[in-house]
Amino acid sequence: MTRPRILVTNDDGIHAQGIQTLVQALSPLAEVWVVAPASEQSAVSNAISLRHPLRLRGANEARQYSVSGTPTDCVYLAMNHLLRESPPDLLVSGINHGANLADDVFYSGTVAGAIEATLNDLPSIAFSMAGRGPYPFDQLTGHIQRLAEYVLRARLPRGVLINVNFPPDTLPDTKHKITKLGRRTYGRIVVEKTDPRQTPYYWLGGSELGFDDLPGTDCNAIADGFISVTPIHLDLTHYRFLEELKTDAFFTNNETS
Ligand code: MN
Repeated sequence: MTRPRILVTNDDGIHAQGIQTLVQALSPLAEVWVVAPASEQSAVSNAISLRHPLRLRGANEARQYSVSGTPTDCVYLAMNHLLRESPPDLLVSGINHGANLADDVFYSGTVAGAIEATLNDLPSIAFSMAGRGPYPFDQLTGHIQRLAEYVLRARLPRGVLINVNFPPDTLPDTKHKITKLGRRTYGRIVVEKTDPRQTPYYWLGGSELGFDDLPGTDCNAIADGFISVTPIHLDLTHYRFLEELKTDAFFTNNETS
């Protein structure tokens, strides 16, 4: 096999320690290209910039580019412009500074970078590290290399990405658990204040309150000190309920049907 090409992005910005850890870990395995946000984009989800221009900065030799946009913008620009003639074999996003467990995947910019690749049939992995730091990223090298090699070798089903979370105290011999998404609860705080012109403003976001204790979930795996590996499917259709709806009297007798 020729040397694979790996595209790397994140949501903490190109200067974050997590993304530079990924570059160092993956460089022995592959030709690594970094296309990452110029500034932090945590919790921007799959936002794409359609109403303002983007600036691309970087040097060809280093293969590291910053984009004045979101993780989705970065992967879009990389796949459809920078690497159009030499497409990557894998997209790796992260390592996020903080967990992306359970419902977090709907808000996460880190996971969104992986989603954008998977939507375009490029296999992807999202990496995040739980805890509030300092993050022992140097312990993750072997894990990252083995997981990237696995995904390069294995064929992920279409529309599926791998979401990996490391526990805060990960060591080189920490074990994996294959998990499903759990349920996390946050304090849904709204702080209301008044600006210097006497207009009210609002600041959203409370701290993590905890998670539901559900065996087999990503939250439980991290709490138990394992590396959590969750396959995420981008088809959000609920097939069993779809069949129920088809036979529901509301829809079968409805004058609009
Ligand atoms: Mn982040």
